[in-house]
Amino acid sequence: MTAVASAPDATTPAVKVGPTKLLINNEWVNAASGKTFSTVNPATEEVIAQVAEADAADVDRAVKAARAAFEEGPWSKMSASERGRLMYKLADLIEKNKDELAQLESLDNGKPLRESKNADLPLVIACYRYYAGWADKIHGKVIPVNGPFMCYTKHEPVGVVGQIIPWNFPLLMQAWKLGPALAAGCTVVMKVAEQTPLSALRIGELIVEAGFPPGVVNILPGYGPTAGQALARHPDVDKVAFTGSTEVGHLIMKYAAESNLKRVTLELGGKSPNIVLADAPLDAAADGAFFGLFFNQGQCCCAGSRVFVEDKIYDDFLAKVTDKAKTRKVGDPFLKETQQGPQVDDEQFKKIMGFIDTGKKQGAKLACGGERVGSRGYFVAPTIFTDVRDDMTIAQEEIFGPVMSVMRFSQIDEAIRRGNATKYGLAAAVWTRDIEKAYSVANKLRAGTVWVNCYDVFDAAAPFGGFKQSGIGRELGEYGLANYTEIKTVTVKI
Ligand code: ADP
Repeated sequence: MTAVASAPDATTPAVKVGPTKLLINNEWVNAASGKTFSTVNPATEEVIAQVAEADAADVDRAVKAARAAFEEGPWSKMSASERGRLMYKLADLIEKNKDELAQLESLDNGKPLRESKNADLPLVIACYRYYAGWADKIHGKVIPVNGPFMCYTKHEPVGVVGQIIPWNFPLLMQAWKLGPALAAGCTVVMKVAEQTPLSALRIGELIVEAGFPPGVVNILPGYGPTAGQALARHPDVDKVAFTGSTEVGHLIMKYAAESNLKRVTLELGGKSPNIVLADAPLDAAADGAFFGLFFNQGQCCCAGSRVFVEDKIYDDFLAKVTDKAKTRKVGDPFLKETQQGPQVDDEQFKKIMGFIDTGKKQGAKLACGGERVGSRGYFVAPTIFTDVRDDMTIAQEEIFGPVMSVMRFSQIDEAIRRGNATKYGLAAAVWTRDIEKAYSVANKLRAGTVWVNCYDVFDAAAPFGGFKQSGIGRELGEYGLANYTEIKTVTVKI
């Protein structure tokens, strides 16, 4: 039994592709090497476009433009409220072009158009507006020091920022990074993911249209080990902000340490526990846990991939989520009824199929799924494993695909202990009607975000980031902004 409810017979729709070059100093340029790479529609495996491939020389050029803009360009003299006004204008332009952007996102990434429209784009617009509002509200304090002195602090922009983003939410990850950086007055060189460069480049066009001065935002499509590494190692970059795998997160810290001790913020992987207590509203918990894992084809760093369910309701819960998985509509992202599109590329597809294979070999049982859907496009059937031991690979490693492990527990303390027993600590959730249990479990889970009776609730104002090897620093909210400023203490003798 597969989960297909509509055959993945996708065709590449006629979507306006937009720019495919590098954006440096508000100009669209080819890579210095002249190289390009293909970006592929994951639903059809067809090439959408050839995109300029940035490397070290382009990074250097973009950093020089960003440095000049930071030190002496109009941006460096612009008032904070004017910065905010430009950001509002960008948000308005994104809103005006939201349908086209949603289509481009679904074309390049494979996510259902319905979700690009209803989830990604509204969050993107809200994020730019939220940070636009911060631009003229960033200020320090007056400190009552001893002696005849006046002491105050200033929150100054950290400088030229390198930002490296992933492919799972291309527009949203761009907004999470650009929002606080621009509000703080930094200038940016952004390396977008090689799998999904198109929507970020279209935003580049809107940035120029909004009137941001040259060099403030530079956007480079390219590969990680070349362009990404060159950016993280660049001696004239003051900070690097990275979202991606924990493995590459280790490298980014190394690059920063070996170059100029640039500031580092990291938003990395997860293996988030989702704990369902026996007194939870069962339908809501099953729906919420299902969404918490299968949303975005399972390609979320905070995906609730380990679902711990209390003994007494385990069988009923498993029946509900299995039923949902079996009837999930997997197919063409551009069809209205589609609930799950393809994985982003062949590499991710193979990695996920490899994890499923390892799960089976190590003794986990498939409740449903486990196979490819169709023969074209990177579609994976919604997959649920039972009989998963905590030490199995599928319970320890981030799968980043539509693969859920439903695990049984009998004591709350046991669920918390097992939930915390990974190197990650990005997100977690608990489902219960008992408020005391909810607070107690939320307190004991070692994770940057804990959702109670909900999952994947995001807001530009609410910080997001990881404990342990899920990251360093926070994105979004006031804490996200703090990572883009340096504190200067000024002491004046009076
Ligand atoms: P994933 O496995 O989900 O693609 P990665 O961590 O490999 O996650 O990629 C996230 C981002 O990091 C992408 O933009 C990618 O190009 C970039 N990247 C990958 N390797 C490196 C590296 N060695 N140095 C800098 N950036 C990298």
